[in-house]
Order: sequence, then structure tokens, then C-alpha cells
Amino acid sequence: MYLPNPDEHPALPRTVFSAGAGAPLARAPLAGALTADAVIIGGGFVGVSAALHLAEAGRPVVLVEANEIGWGSAGRNAGHVSPDATKLGPRRLAEVYGPVYGPRLAAVGAGAPQFVTDLARRLGIDVAVVRGGILTAAHSAAAARRLEADIRFLDGSGAPVEFLPAAAVEALFGTRTYFGARLDRRGIAINPLAFVRGMARAAIARGALVHERSPMRRLVRTGDGWEVVTDGGSVRAGHVLLCTNAYTDDRCWPGLRRSIVPVRLYLGWTRPLPAALRAEILPGIAAMLDTRHLPVAMRLHGDGRLQFGAGRPGFGPEQEPAARAYLDQIKRIMPALAPAEIEGWWSGWVTRGIADGWRLHELAPGLVTAIGCNGRGVAMGPIMGRELARYVGGTPAADLIVPLSPVRGIPWYSFHQPLGRAAIGVFGLLDRLGTRN
Ligand SMILES: Cc1cc2nc3c(=O)[nH]c(=O)nc-3n(C[C@H](O)[C@H](O)[C@H](O)COP(=O)(O)OP(=O)(O)OC[C@H]3O[C@@H](n4cnc5c(N)ncnc54)[C@H](O)[C@@H]3O)c2cc1C
Repeated sequence: MYLPNPDEHPALPRTVFSAGAGAPLARAPLAGALTADAVIIGGGFVGVSAALHLAEAGRPVVLVEANEIGWGSAGRNAGHVSPDATKLGPRRLAEVYGPVYGPRLAAVGAGAPQFVTDLARRLGIDVAVVRGGILTAAHSAAAARRLEADIRFLDGSGAPVEFLPAAAVEALFGTRTYFGARLDRRGIAINPLAFVRGMARAAIARGALVHERSPMRRLVRTGDGWEVVTDGGSVRAGHVLLCTNAYTDDRCWPGLRRSIVPVRLYLGWTRPLPAALRAEILPGIAAMLDTRHLPVAMRLHGDGRLQFGAGRPGFGPEQEPAARAYLDQIKRIMPALAPAEIEGWWSGWVTRGIADGWRLHELAPGLVTAIGCNGRGVAMGPIMGRELARYVGGTPAADLIVPLSPVRGIPWYSFHQPLGRAAIGVFGLLDRLGTRN
């Protein structure tokens, strides 16, 4: 079975975000034996935010990252920041998380873009914020009705969300593909690699010790806590925060991996579009995606490069994705994009699970994890890292935004890859039902 961690290699792939993200941190690997209050495994959004918040609370904390800060999905995502906590949509949150946590999570999710901009401003990180909102376009008439129902659900909340009928979508960016769209003006787009690196630098400035190229090899229970062992050293601490999300393997905690399905996603980008064309693509909008199970997603960067979803999700080693076919699909949707040419692509892993939303687990006394993100990690990852830090700092579980829950293994886990491939095939077929393109 292929797992994300064989992707281990020394550097992040080049992406549209590399140039604007500043220099890598280049922290030395862990060496020798350290002690701390808490040790964090994984230097993505969750891990660096937990380190930042613990360091701000004056707690001695050590973070070990297998590769480099942001090497996981934090440095490989699309940078969309939606005002949602999960992909479940506002109506399903209460069903999945219950009457207490559902509304709490919905409120936190609604403020997610603001959380990102406030945190970046407070820490002095230039995350290249693009405002204008996120547009979710309906690929079928049924999807348009669902978007309208979601908007009605928010009636009275004051959220700046509107439904654009098909003609308005066509007028906005010249496509007749869509049956309407939801435009949520709260949504933003950022440079996620700049964000995760900036948070890590801020954590270090506040006293956190951060070690890269330090994969945890063993996690050992000691009399009064835990010992995390890497190739070059070890850290003893009362608390361990496991922040490895889709990159979790059995070294991290037996059985945890079997509660998520890691899925590889591909993104690509074009050469800079001709100047005259840029004004026609997503004018004034930070980013768009559509309602397909295998969604079309796009955002235009300031230098004229168009970023897009670039291939079918996968489960195995990285392969040359069908980026050209995806760009052709986008050109059918937006004929004005005919001159666009691919410049590059990259991939990263997300998790899918049964409920498909964030979960908090106390795996053993003093050992906690936040896991299960399904694509709302740019803002919610740092928020979940803050929640882990609050819990370790003594906040009662009942005051967190997600309940502590037992780990539930996915039934028939050994078959998740063939079943997942079959599901992707079915999703592709379903996506074609009722579409114009
Ligand atoms: C292609 C793609 C597009 C996405 N687009 C968006 C988007 O537009 N908006 C959005 O909100 N979310 C998006 N996401 C999801 C988002 O990127 C993730 O939810 C988020 O990065 C999860 O953060 P994390 O800190 O939990 O995990 P990660 O960022 O994946 O970090 C986990 C880290 O753990 C490290 N690690 C693993 N094992 C060990 C070990 N044994 N020892 C030490 N370190 C270890 C890994 O090296 C890795 O750096 C996207 C994801 C992908 C892949």
C-alpha cells in the first residue's frame, strides 16, 4: 500500500507560491536529548500554530518536522480561504457535530478568513491577501438549487453572500456552463507557504524550538509523559501533539491512519496570460471552484498566471497528471482562455474520512491530535492548532470548538484504494449528469 511519506524528499516542489514565500527556514535537525512541556510532530498549519500559541503562553515547546516547514499540504494547497469550517456546508454541520459543537464550529468557520488576516497582521506576515470573495459555481440545476438553499439558511445572519443567476455568471466571466453561483464576499486567497513559514518564524521568535529534517521514528511512553525519538536526538515531554494529518503513518500512532483515507490532489498553473485577457478572468474575485465532486477550481495570480486543479485525485506515487486535459476542460468552460499554456504542476495529500471534517482525539493521556481535514485547512489548520494548545494549556474539553472523540477505523480499510478509485470513476460519471460542459 502506498503512503504519503515515501514522498519524502529534501525540498518542496516549485509551485506558484514559491517565489512569494520568502526563504525556507533551514532549521537544524534535532540533536541530543531535550526536555519540554510539549513536543509537536509535524510542521504544517496545525503544528506551527500549536507551537506559536504554546510559546506565546510561555510554555517550553519543541517541534520536529520530517522534511521542512510547510513540506506537507500546508505548502502545496491552493490558498483559498473560505468562510467555512469544513466542506460539509452550513446545513450539515449541526447534523455531524451536534447542537452544541455544530453552531460553534459554524461561527468559527464563518470568521476563518478574518482569523487568517488578523493573525498575519499581528505577526507581520505578508501572505499576499487577495479579496473579492470566493465564487462557487453550480455545474447542474440541482446544484444551483442546493446553493440557493444554503444561502437561504444564512438569511438574517448578515453574511455578505448572494446567489448569481446563470446570466450574471456569464456576464461576469463569459461562461455559459454554470446554472448560477454563490458569491461569498468574505472569502479570500493567500500565499499559504508564506503563511506557514511566517507562523513558524513567529513561534521561534517567541521561544519555540523548531527542528527540520527530523522525522519522528519512535514514540515511547515514559513514567510521566512521552519521549519522541528522531534519528539524531530525542525530546521528553508531558504532552505530545500529533499534527501530521494526511501524512500520518503507523509510526505516529497505531490505528490512527486507518481512520482517514489519504488522497493525492494535483494543481497546475499556466504561463502568464496576455494582459488583455487577465481582466476577463474572475474579475474582482479571489478564487472560484464549482460544485462537481471532482471540482474545477481556479485563481488568477497578480503576475497573470492562472492556477487550476490539474488532474484526477490519486492514491499512489506522484505521476505526470492529466493537466492538459484539465486545462482543456477549463477552456471549454471559459473559451477566452484558449491561449493559456501550462507552465507547471505539483501535488499534495488531503484526507477523506467518513464524516469528512476536523476531529480531535486524545489518543492516550497527554497525546492529542487534530486530524481529518478535507480541504479547509489554510484557516482551520491554524485554528485547530490553537485549540490543541488551549487543551494542553488546561482549557476544558467542553470549551473546545470540536469535541474530543474516539478514533473510528474505516470499515474495509484494506480496500480503500480500489474502492476509492471506483468512487472517483463514479464521481466523474455523476459530474457529467446534467452539466452543459
Ligand atoms: C492540492 C491541495 C489543495 C488544497 N487546497 C486547499 C485550499 O485551497 N484551501 C484550504 O483551506 N485547504 C486546502 N487544502 C488542504 C490544506 O492544505 C490542509 O488541510 C492543511 O495543510 C493541513 O494542515 P496540517 O498541518 O494538518 O498538515 P500538513 O500541512 O500536511 O502537515 C503535516 C506535516 O507532518 C509532517 N510529518 C508527517 N509524519 C511525520 C513524522 N513522523 N515526523 C515529523 N513530521 C512528520 C509532514 O512532513 C508534514 O509537513 C489543500 C490540500 C491539497 C493537498
